[in-house]
Amino acid sequence: MSISTVMVIGAGQMGGGIAQVAAAAGRKVYLNDVDLDIVKKRISFIEGLLAKDVSKDRITEAQKAATLANLIPTNDIAMAADADLVIEAVIENMDLKSKIFTQLDEVTKPSCILASNTSSLPITEIAAVTKRPEQVIGMHFMNPVPVMKLVEVIRGLATSDETLKAIFDESVAYGKTPVEVRDVPGFVSNRLLMPMINEAIFCVYEGVATVEDADTVMKLGMNWPMGPLTLADFIGLDTCLYIMEVLYDGYADSKYRPCPLLRQYVKAGWLGKKSGRGFYTYA
Ligand code: NAD
Repeated sequence: MSISTVMVIGAGQMGGGIAQVAAAAGRKVYLNDVDLDIVKKRISFIEGLLAKDVSKDRITEAQKAATLANLIPTNDIAMAADADLVIEAVIENMDLKSKIFTQLDEVTKPSCILASNTSSLPITEIAAVTKRPEQVIGMHFMNPVPVMKLVEVIRGLATSDETLKAIFDESVAYGKTPVEVRDVPGFVSNRLLMPMINEAIFCVYEGVATVEDADTVMKLGMNWPMGPLTLADFIGLDTCLYIMEVLYDGYADSKYRPCPLLRQYVKAGWLGKKSGRGFYTYA
């Protein structure tokens, strides 16, 4: 199937990045959020990123203009009526995602594919609120979207081969490499990454090493571009805790228990870079 019109729901850090790569690939993109001001601010932010790309000769001025021209701000989900694909990237909350997928099932045309960028929620459960579960799929982009090459494509219990192929093709059109993953808690990316981050937090909690030293071990010893605690701050400690809870509940296995220090930081409002303090402090 051919995809020419896309709606991205949620103009946060992920939704903005997804809208940018889809627009750069020539798709007409409706960027949707609850408030038009949020969308307009996000489009200005994208404009800044594209200007930087022009100054570094990564794209031309004409490519920047074409990408921006493809971005249409909206706060009206009904505009998804002519979309071939909707990619949902609102906050990680099952009730909200279910509500949005129920609405999308009503306003979009029958052939439209509905994708979620969820990092941890079950695609099968999201699909179950629609009458088209075979056309519902996970399209898990990595942060920052314009830079990171991977899309983890999550196949729900009912997702069809046709939907999977369309999303593989679409990911490639955005310059990404898709990888098929079954719908299990944490998928592959977070099932591997989050326990490693959690274990680094245990090292700090137990006094095995300082935050800086634990990060240095992984940077210099394992060639990680940034240490696990820096990465946790970047992702958001609330998000890290949430995903550990999903793994812990989903597998009912104590090896996924969240570190008490992680819980304490989240309760203190020390959420990482976005709140100005996590394992490090930010100006
Ligand atoms: P974010 O908080 O930056 O953005 C979420 C956006 O959704 C906000 O702009 C908010 O206003 C908007 N929103 C809330 N309710 C809405 C509604 N009813 N309709 C339209 N928009 C609504 O969050 P984010 O970091 O971009 O994460 C979005 C999704 O992507 C989550 O499911 C998250 O798990 C997933 N994800 C995040 C990362 C990451 O590193 N941050 C990586 C991969 C996947």
